[in-house]
Amino acid sequence: MKRTIVICLLLTALLSLAACGAQPQPSPAPQEAEQSPAPAEAAEPDGEEPAPDAQSEPAEEVPAESEDPPEERAPVLLYMGHASLRIVTPEDKVIYIDPYAGDGYDLPADLILVTHDHFDHSALKLVGERSGDCRVITRKEALEGGEHRSFELPFVSVEAVEAGNNRYHDVRSCVGYVLRFPSGVSLYVSGDSSETAQMAEMADMQLDYAFFCCDGVYNMGPEEAARCAGLVGAKHNIPYHTASTDNGSLFDTAQAERFDAPGRLIVSPGEEIGLR
Ligand SMILES: [Zn+2]
Repeated sequence: MKRTIVICLLLTALLSLAACGAQPQPSPAPQEAEQSPAPAEAAEPDGEEPAPDAQSEPAEEVPAESEDPPEERAPVLLYMGHASLRIVTPEDKVIYIDPYAGDGYDLPADLILVTHDHFDHSALKLVGERSGDCRVITRKEALEGGEHRSFELPFVSVEAVEAGNNRYHDVRSCVGYVLRFPSGVSLYVSGDSSETAQMAEMADMQLDYAFFCCDGVYNMGPEEAARCAGLVGAKHNIPYHTASTDNGSLFDTAQAERFDAPGRLIVSPGEEIGLR
């Protein structure tokens, strides 16, 4: 009997153990069931993750942007205020001239042109990003041994010209620049200047765009600047450096409107123009 009882007890114990063993099973099952949505959720962000899609989208946009071959696109000039300009060429090369005013210094520079050393033309620190082969041309490179120099780059040719010729700006330490792009379009920036002897000869250059300073404090005023525009003879004449920086002004609309030149084009700070 004892054996029978022991066997029965053992059987009962085994059964209960089997039952106990069976009981936990349902619990892992729901856990798995709970876990299965979890990976699904984890997978969702992957599915939702815009990164792969977003990465592919710009990849699709890039060819769209460059659909027009570079020779059919115009250099785009951003006037940043005072004497500061940024030009993005059709080859996506970035040129800064006289960095100092405004916004838009976020594009890596390929070429920086500085007309003279004054602080309101030479804030090179603003151009933090530069391409590996970025070229910086200041008046030191542009005017060597009394000679104005020219520079040939694949995306623009640059010719230094005479500038200054007033009480605050010595012709020996200031330059203007003439830029000519592969499309043939050309641009002149006077830098800080009054009338110079060379301006009368510049009509031969048949320029498209010309920027003239006209603050009338440290440089020529709008009347003289308009006369210079007549000498240089560009198609479009744009007033800039319209105010001294003494009062913090980066553009004086009233002064710009006093620049009564043929083919006058008033460009406000922050405005972009296509150079065609
Ligand atoms: Zn200046």
